[in-house]
Amino acid sequence: PVVTRFAPSPTGYLHIGGARTALYSWLYAQKTGGSFVLRIEDTDRERSTDEAVAAIVDAMDWLDLPAEGPATYQTQRFDRYGQVIEQLLAEGKAYRCYSTAEEVEAMREAARAAGEKPKYDGTWRPMPGKTLPEIPAGRDPVIRFATPLDGHTVIPDLVKGDITIANSELDDLIIARADGTPTYNFCVVVDDMDMGITHVIRGDDHVNNTPRQINILKALVGDEGDLPVYAHVPMILGADGKRLSKRHGAVGVMTFREQGFLPSALLNYLVRLGWAHGDQEIFTRAEMIEHFDIENVQGGASTFDPEKLTWVNQEHIKMAAPDTLAGELAWHLARHDIHDVPAPRLAQIAAVQQGRCKLMTEMAEGSLFLFAAPDEYAAKAVKKHIKADTPAVLADVHDRLAALDTWDAETLGDAVRGVAETREIGMGKVAQPIRIALTGGPVSPSIDDTLVLLGREATLARLNTAVD
Ligand code: GLU
Repeated sequence: PVVTRFAPSPTGYLHIGGARTALYSWLYAQKTGGSFVLRIEDTDRERSTDEAVAAIVDAMDWLDLPAEGPATYQTQRFDRYGQVIEQLLAEGKAYRCYSTAEEVEAMREAARAAGEKPKYDGTWRPMPGKTLPEIPAGRDPVIRFATPLDGHTVIPDLVKGDITIANSELDDLIIARADGTPTYNFCVVVDDMDMGITHVIRGDDHVNNTPRQINILKALVGDEGDLPVYAHVPMILGADGKRLSKRHGAVGVMTFREQGFLPSALLNYLVRLGWAHGDQEIFTRAEMIEHFDIENVQGGASTFDPEKLTWVNQEHIKMAAPDTLAGELAWHLARHDIHDVPAPRLAQIAAVQQGRCKLMTEMAEGSLFLFAAPDEYAAKAVKKHIKADTPAVLADVHDRLAALDTWDAETLGDAVRGVAETREIGMGKVAQPIRIALTGGPVSPSIDDTLVLLGREATLARLNTAVD
């Protein structure tokens, strides 16, 4: 069975590049009936924080990319890494190296001078018939992996195609430091093996690590053992062709939430970055799972396009079932200090607003009038729409509405039109003053929807206030 993983280093928020590899890993598992697991690569204790772990978990929750079972934390696995290091030493597949950093640098320099690839020269690597140097007193060794000296390593890569590297290009990698702590590439290998990972889907900034990881993995599971398949997903670039970073504006997933994007839209946008299914742009979750195929991911970098993301978001807001927008609307309203709005009420608001906004921030802002009477009327709108007869018009509207015994869109629309007809004025001369009276400004949903949403009591009270 397929097992994919997402293995973030908790050194900051979840950025969209990470979100996309998480999405691809999750999709691939969904598609194949496999499982998707989360591994927190927190061995870099200086840079890893609990806040970053929480931020990543929150973002994964928001995106609704659930991992199976509890997350694996590398910092909880040091005993296991130590065990595997002992095993490799015992089997002669790793060795203790007492060279100092300066000595290794000198070896590299010498290789460079000879026009070769700079690497450790194997001084401490045991070889048949070789006598090792005398162990320097009081020096703690690092542990190096004995990389095969010849032959090739092939990375089976579903995105880039097979990549072949000559083993002679590869260094004898340090797998444990002098203080005994295991190194990054080594932990990844032990984890991928123990977690039964079949497909390693990750950013192509890791391609250089892969042959090293494959060699260690082979040393552990044997040549006949199961090795994962890889999919190295290209970077996401900004419009300037540079790797996406804070300079380009939002890159953290939760910043996109703050800016009003829906998780489904962000996922839709990300799945399409570097992958296509014909010319289809808009995908539901089910459609993503149905059509996604890792082998169709393109090998070249993709460019982040905020305008397209905004368009995708608008489409998702439009097509969403109103009750699925409720939670997100509540979150945005809370940022305006509006809390505890019942879910059916939120869905009712979303149903009216969803055709009118590109971003959830706009939906929240455009709905604030429902929760508080205007404390002032927009000066420009007043100047444009409020005429000498406006108080009389609004008084008329008030009286007609007050006399209604049903409060639905049709009845309300008829009543407002009735005022315009009786007074023989255009509908705008009635509707705009109503909007200003009810919302403080000239923009709101259709007048009947606005009245329905606001309800009888608030509508009549605000009309009264405006007339005074
Ligand atoms: N922890 C690595 C990162 O955040 C990913 C390693 C991997 O997927 O193998 O970039």
